[in-house]
Amino acid sequence: MRVRDQVKADAMAAAASSPCRQVRRVSVLGATGSIGQSTLDLIARHPDMFEIEALTANADAAGLAALAIRHRARMAAVADPAAYEALAQALSGTGIIAAAGPKALEEAASRPADCVVAAIVGAAGLVPTLAAVRQGRRVALANKECLVTAGDLFMREVAAAGAELLPVDSEHSAAFQAIGADEPDAIEQITLTASGGPFRDWDMARLAAATPEQALRHPNWSMGAKITIDSATLMNKGLELIEAFHLFPVGADRLDCVVHPQSIVHCLVAYRDGSVLAQMSSPDMRTPIALALSWPRRIDAPTKRLDLAALGKLTFEAPDTVRFPALAVARQALAAGGSAPAVLNAANEVAVMAFLERRIGFLDIAAVVADSLAVAGGRGLFGACASLDDLLAIDTEARARTRSLLARFQSRSGGD
Ligand code: NAD
Ligand code: MG
Repeated sequence: MRVRDQVKADAMAAAASSPCRQVRRVSVLGATGSIGQSTLDLIARHPDMFEIEALTANADAAGLAALAIRHRARMAAVADPAAYEALAQALSGTGIIAAAGPKALEEAASRPADCVVAAIVGAAGLVPTLAAVRQGRRVALANKECLVTAGDLFMREVAAAGAELLPVDSEHSAAFQAIGADEPDAIEQITLTASGGPFRDWDMARLAAATPEQALRHPNWSMGAKITIDSATLMNKGLELIEAFHLFPVGADRLDCVVHPQSIVHCLVAYRDGSVLAQMSSPDMRTPIALALSWPRRIDAPTKRLDLAALGKLTFEAPDTVRFPALAVARQALAAGGSAPAVLNAANEVAVMAFLERRIGFLDIAAVVADSLAVAGGRGLFGACASLDDLLAIDTEARARTRSLLARFQSRSGGD
């Protein structure tokens, strides 16, 4: 497997040479977020196995300082330079290094650590996550937008640095576990499951009037705001198909998704002999995070254990791309290739923010992204991009273009 081949032999050898409990130093990018906090919860439960090196956040200096002190980090960095004074003050006398700004995030990501958990939300995480990759160590990747924005370049950097890339996204962690045999040609299909989100059975009229509060009420998962909205539109599954395309050795035509409202089965891998291997667990991100931290071993995670008899039944249905067109839009971007997924991601980040700020309606999110993608495609802007600078420029342009498109949707939806 593309991920597995690179890393498994080395990891097994490393694990064998440190027979049990060599303490692993972990840095967490996006420590104040949902994945960040789940990671720190696990780490605090295994003080004999893990220590914290560096923690980062966007602007929440007080929250980050509290985490850095509690987990005895060596460095804490905020992305927002304006938050530096508050961070430095909160950490004064603790011996923990305080830093701020984009370079500080890269520095935090580059500090000597055995594992860097990439849990920043959005393309904002790309540069610091690549800094971690370039150190050639383990990167536990939650920040799927890195692979959507820069998949080819990111995977090239992983290979060049000899980094271990372990997926944290639950579906991709599940696929990683189900792809046991080192026989990529034997895989017929990888099917990611989707909960269907809070609006799974809503009709178009209700969807048109859906509010941010309703969209933020996810039935199964407790997550940050952006991914929760992505789950409601099904764009999350579209981003995950692109993520899977880069992680696993199958073409886009062998990647599929199915709606599974209980979120118990996370992915199914079908093989040429008719076998289908699936991974199941309660919907709690501490299971995939634990695996990424401890692989190739497994550690205790305090999640609710599965009781299939109590659950009674697991159901599956095809996604409805009429009510949830974002999935088809993401597939178009994957098929177009080049920088199309970067444009898709940038447009989606802008559209989700506009929805959360009540400037556009729920159904406008996918429509804005589709328009932004169509405009970029129409202008021949989907070229293959060789460098990080190219991609960052494409991301910036796509955001600007999408913002200008928003005006049309704002006036249509009344802008509330
Ligand atoms: P979140 O919003 O809860 O946390 C995001 C973190 O990133 C915070 O620490 C925030 O301070 C930081 N951040 C935000 N903007 C930043 C910026 N511009 N620069 C630097 N730091 C910034 O998000 P989350 O739910 O923890 O998700 C994080 C990533 O993990 C996302 O890519 C998401 O798709 C992915 N993911 C999350 C879950 C989940 O259950 N939450 C599951 C699978 C994948
Ligand atoms: Mg997921």
